[in-house]
Amino acid sequence: MSRDTDGLQLTADAYRTIQVRDGHQPEFAQAAYEVLESLEPALKRHPEYLRSGVLERLCEPERQIIFRVPWTDDTGAVRVNRGFRVEFNSALGPYKGGLRFHPSVNIGVIKFLGFEQIFKNALTGLPLGGGKGGSDFDPKGKSDAEIMRFCQSFMTELHRHLGEYTDVPAGDIGVGRREIGYLFGQYKRITNRYESGVLTGKGLNWGGSQVRTEATGYGTVYFVDQMLRARGEQIDGRRVVVSGSGNVAIYAARKVHELGGTVVAMSDSEGYVVDEEGLDIEAVRELKEDRGGRVKDYAEEHPRARFVDNGSIWDVPCAVALPCATQNELDDEAATTLVRNGVVAIGEGANMPTTPGAVKVFQDAGVLFGPGKAANAGGVATSGLEMQQNASRDSWHFDYTDTRLSQIMADIHDSVREMAEGYGAPDNYVLGANIAGFTKVADTMLDLGVI
Ligand code: NDP
Repeated sequence: MSRDTDGLQLTADAYRTIQVRDGHQPEFAQAAYEVLESLEPALKRHPEYLRSGVLERLCEPERQIIFRVPWTDDTGAVRVNRGFRVEFNSALGPYKGGLRFHPSVNIGVIKFLGFEQIFKNALTGLPLGGGKGGSDFDPKGKSDAEIMRFCQSFMTELHRHLGEYTDVPAGDIGVGRREIGYLFGQYKRITNRYESGVLTGKGLNWGGSQVRTEATGYGTVYFVDQMLRARGEQIDGRRVVVSGSGNVAIYAARKVHELGGTVVAMSDSEGYVVDEEGLDIEAVRELKEDRGGRVKDYAEEHPRARFVDNGSIWDVPCAVALPCATQNELDDEAATTLVRNGVVAIGEGANMPTTPGAVKVFQDAGVLFGPGKAANAGGVATSGLEMQQNASRDSWHFDYTDTRLSQIMADIHDSVREMAEGYGAPDNYVLGANIAGFTKVADTMLDLGVI
């Protein structure tokens, strides 16, 4: 981080404070560094942000909640997990961001996700603050009854911090429609109120929105298509690799297919499956969503496909790569391989899946790079649309909601590109997204005073 003027010294100071206070939270420090570094040109142009302490306030969550989640497993043994909710910034609206259930969850991971969420939510143009939560609970191998008891216990504590005007969680890794159902049921039971707007990602019968399931994956592909179109290209006819095979990955793959691209590889944490002529995306969806299978089962059921145990999916040559699994899954070595194999565009469906070194490899090679806070904002944007429908007790049709989503993604693309152009770097979507998101939040924080 540069230190050549007073303003930039302050940027460096803000990062140093994070290293001292939160150095033991590497994911959060990484996310903060990436944002602070790209804000330097904006801070140079707008010293008022530095004088008002906006940077320091943005990097410190408004509230961090850590709680015990006791539950009983099917053998009758009592188990204890740790629950988290980081209410990071509410300048633009109620805290909004998903819940992640995964053994890797800790306060640093939740802080990194909540920090990213602030800027992502600002980019959607909707009135949403930033937050994130979850637990180190591992849903894998648990029975349905165990998942329900865990969700009920989790919500028994969390409910006191939520509300449609306060904090509105959604799903993330390990939290899908089923878990949101158990969480919403418990919230309703404890509060004796049918507050649909307190959670998003709900089922269609009980306040959910059309397109929410598809939104993050679809939105990522709409965004990548926009980036390509800005260069006179498109997804149609392109070979695409999608990592992961969860919610984001499946619907990203489906939209690629609908736009005429060919998805040749997908993965899970055990390995990846390749079919040079294109995977059958509906078969992947059915295998994962309806049967709870693994991608290696796909290879067993489809003779044209082969399963690669533990290899890197980024070794598969492609024109477009969509990392849709988890953080730091694409490093500089993988990026170098992708560039050598002719990749032209990357869209981060997951949050921070690309390491800083890999981002640099792509940018140096002139590869279009859509950062997660812009490219995967379609999920939270559609959650915002779900909140609008709940507030007006309305429900919109699929096509109307999908049109709203694709318009929001086009608007995000244009505002990010315009901001990057204003700083003389039209293809630098990282710079554009960070400065556009930051400016909106920072201007609002200035309006609201030192709180
Ligand atoms: P899911 O739990 O539905 O799917 C995650 C997928 O990633 C699974 O296929 C999982 O495989 C795979 N995966 C996890 N770790 C690895 C790894 N180390 N290597 C390869 N594959 C791995 O989660 P989502 O699809 O909801 O979320 C994926 C990412 O997208 C996360 O970063 C999330 O924060 C982000 N995101 C999600 C949004 C949403 O609306 N759902 C919104 C915006 C961002 P396995 O089954 O083996 O664990």
